[in-house]
Amino acid sequence: MHWMEMTPHELKDFVVDLGEKSFRGTQLFEGIHGQRKDLAEMTNIPKSLVEALPEPLESVEIVKRLASKLDETKKYLYRLSDGEIVEGVLMKYRHGYSLCVSTQVGCRMGCKFCVSTLNGLIRNLRPFEMLSQVYAVEARENIHISNIILMGSGEPFDNYDHVLRFLRLLHEPKGQNMSYRNMTISSCGLVDGIKTLAEEGIPVNLAISLHETEQGERKKLMPVAARYDMAQLFDALRYYVDRTGQRITLEYTLIQGQNDGMRNIREFEELTRGLLCHVNLIPLNTTDHFSHTKPGREHILRFQRELSQRGISCTIRRELGSDIQASCGQLKAGAVAVEAR
Ligand code: SAH
Repeated sequence: MHWMEMTPHELKDFVVDLGEKSFRGTQLFEGIHGQRKDLAEMTNIPKSLVEALPEPLESVEIVKRLASKLDETKKYLYRLSDGEIVEGVLMKYRHGYSLCVSTQVGCRMGCKFCVSTLNGLIRNLRPFEMLSQVYAVEARENIHISNIILMGSGEPFDNYDHVLRFLRLLHEPKGQNMSYRNMTISSCGLVDGIKTLAEEGIPVNLAISLHETEQGERKKLMPVAARYDMAQLFDALRYYVDRTGQRITLEYTLIQGQNDGMRNIREFEELTRGLLCHVNLIPLNTTDHFSHTKPGREHILRFQRELSQRGISCTIRRELGSDIQASCGQLKAGAVAVEAR
């Protein structure tokens, strides 16, 4: 493991193995994750330790930055050390800055409407490559990021261990010190991941990309549904809520004439009965390879009303950064979709 992705405790053991005193591990952690210094700037670290480190300090590099003229949204392209590129989006809310973080280069989930999956999975991101997206944007904008959402490219539960380590490192008091409640994992519904997360005992938010209310139709849109059917998915969600007491967000991309009818309202009612959840409606971002559009505004509002009338808590995402093709989950085209607050 790269020493940049070790916890303070692990770093202590690591430096002791290198023949140093254990407090050097704490200093190293604070230097990297708290003060964000280069090794050369960490004047409190002895040269012998710096020279003994097996790998250099690494970071992603922002190679492109697009700033929206309509709002304060920014979009970034990051280059990783092997030349691969991932994307991210920074959004400003009243309560602070939120960064949309990528967890994989590409994705192998194959959702029909999503651009990130077109070339399949290239590779998993390392924990420090996720951390470094946060650090690079903070340095570039001179801000503090208080929230992250894992809605960039990739399926977080398909890279479970690296993602969990990333979140734990973000939470470290001597590092970013981010509250777990300000972190959101978004998944297309890998049931094993949902169940494992339920056992972790960390109160992160869980959002599930549902996008269809009927098993056969969902399978056509999202190949993951062939692996876990609707019953298995909702059993896992109920288990998650029972275990954690936390509310689940169901993300639902509205596709005109496909999943926006009364049948879906009725099926929603069945599926969510007794489940602590919130539905987030996302108007589809149109892309070249998926020949569908979003419903009109009126229809979206009606869909929301129908759900609300059945006691299902429901909001519509507002669109940010539409002039810079900033988007979560659909990073290469369209507009950014973020939860309306
Ligand atoms: N793999 C994870 C996280 C990345 S996608 C997941 O599936 O949740 C983030 C969100 O953007 C998901 O809800 C995804 O379904 C959605 N999304 C992808 N393409 C979209 C599009 N063209 N229009 C609207 N939402 C889209």
